[in-house]
Amino acid sequence: MSTSKPLASAPAGTHAIVYGGSIAGLMSTAMLSRHFERVTLVERDVFPNGPMPRKGVPQAQHIHGLLTRGMDILAGFLPGIREDLVAAGGEFLDVVESVAMFGAGSWRPRFRSGVSAPSMSRLLLEWVVRQRLQALANVRILDGREAVALKTSGDRTRVTGLQVQAPGGGQEETLEAGLVVDASGRGSRMPQWLEALGYPRVEETRIHVDVGYATRLYRKPPGFEPGWRSLALSPKLPEERRLGIIQDIEDNRWLVTLGGWLGDSPSTAEEAVFLEFARGLPQPHLYEAIKNAEPLGPIHLYRFPHHQRRHYERMPRLPEGLAVVGDAFCSFNPTYGQGMSTGAMQAEALGECLRQGLRGASDRYRQRAGQILQGPWALATAGDLGFPEVEGKRPPGFGLMTWYGNRFQQLAGYDEEAMTLFARVQHMIESPAAMFSPRMVLKVLAVRPDKAAQTPGPRPLAASTP
Ligand SMILES: Cc1cc2nc3c(=O)[nH]c(=O)nc-3n(C[C@H](O)[C@H](O)[C@H](O)COP(=O)(O)OP(=O)(O)OC[C@H]3O[C@@H](n4cnc5c(N)ncnc54)[C@H](O)[C@@H]3O)c2cc1C
Repeated sequence: MSTSKPLASAPAGTHAIVYGGSIAGLMSTAMLSRHFERVTLVERDVFPNGPMPRKGVPQAQHIHGLLTRGMDILAGFLPGIREDLVAAGGEFLDVVESVAMFGAGSWRPRFRSGVSAPSMSRLLLEWVVRQRLQALANVRILDGREAVALKTSGDRTRVTGLQVQAPGGGQEETLEAGLVVDASGRGSRMPQWLEALGYPRVEETRIHVDVGYATRLYRKPPGFEPGWRSLALSPKLPEERRLGIIQDIEDNRWLVTLGGWLGDSPSTAEEAVFLEFARGLPQPHLYEAIKNAEPLGPIHLYRFPHHQRRHYERMPRLPEGLAVVGDAFCSFNPTYGQGMSTGAMQAEALGECLRQGLRGASDRYRQRAGQILQGPWALATAGDLGFPEVEGKRPPGFGLMTWYGNRFQQLAGYDEEAMTLFARVQHMIESPAAMFSPRMVLKVLAVRPDKAAQTPGPRPLAASTP
């Protein structure tokens, strides 16, 4: 395993605390280890000794894609992490060549795009990152401890530490720090804590989408060579609502997720319901692949009621020495796969703000984090607001943007340049503005939906089933 050393430059402070030891907390800890003499990571759960599920992150058993941008940032914090992930059984796949994707009513062309992303379970990803943090001399992992309150200066303008205790009670302990980072996820109690300290209530935007996931692990059938490594059947929003994905993960397994919007997802964790839902997808490939495959565990359900964005950037004031990252700041509909990567972008932004010193870093950071969220938020909510039932403010020009987005997707159904750009935007390594270059606008205006319909899908499964 590779180890990384803290940067040699002058540290921003002596001690920083991160609470919440899931992906955003892990990435923030990795970043802060380069800016502080010491970092303590506080996590309520006791971490398992391996890539195993735990109570605080129930969603980790469902399909998770870390986007290229998120992976690049992580590799910047922890050089050599790609090699560590591969050594642990993970893989990096070209997201266009290796994934058979049916979206917006047609199969997408497959070719080497140069956009690669990790293909592995989230459990493995976090386990490998945790091991890297454990190997850092200036990081202390304090698991089995819950953050229960902020400690502040007498005038409450500066956070000076964190109160922690064993979950469910016990002796409280105070940890002193120059910076406290809240990475406790979408259930974060920071808004209440701030109010109790005399700060105004953080504004919150919610968009109800009622997305449901049902996920099961399968052994990859030996000899099954369908010509794809992963399969994604996405609906044509808003006419269709159901999706199905097979993700190729470590140890010759498939993670299979079925889901849908507005309550249209498998209602119970029964095999018959799962298979029936798979059979109802717009293409037969997923059902054909799993119908005789060996399940490796139960079906897990997850209900995601609403997007949740807390506008810390709009607060008139916040205490110094405080930062909020990951889902605690903004939690997106998971179908767009942005949560972990946006958390990485926030951790990166926090690091950049710390380069100018700890003083004022909290304010600089929350402004930056608010800006960072604009793009992913627009992308994730655009599709959902297309459902007439979904309540929320449609931005100016929403109808025109939806029309353009749909035509762009049709173009990506046969045009390799558009498909590559689509993948680069989706993986956050290209700005969505690139979709509006004069060259692309001309192509979109001349789009030929009939050509997209001719793009062949994966070869018939009967021929490839053992
Ligand atoms: C079904 C599903 C599928 C998803 N798929 C994707 C995907 O494909 N790609 C993607 O990027 N994102 C995906 N997401 C989103 C992703 O899971 C989240 O964005 C991500 O987990 C957020 O990470 P986080 O560290 O901010 O919070 P969380 O992962 O929610 O972790 C919060 C952590 O804080 C701990 N904690 C809570 N309170 C305290 C406390 N008081 N003291 C100490 N510790 C505390 C918890 O135990 C937990 O470890 C998906 C989400 C769901 C629900």
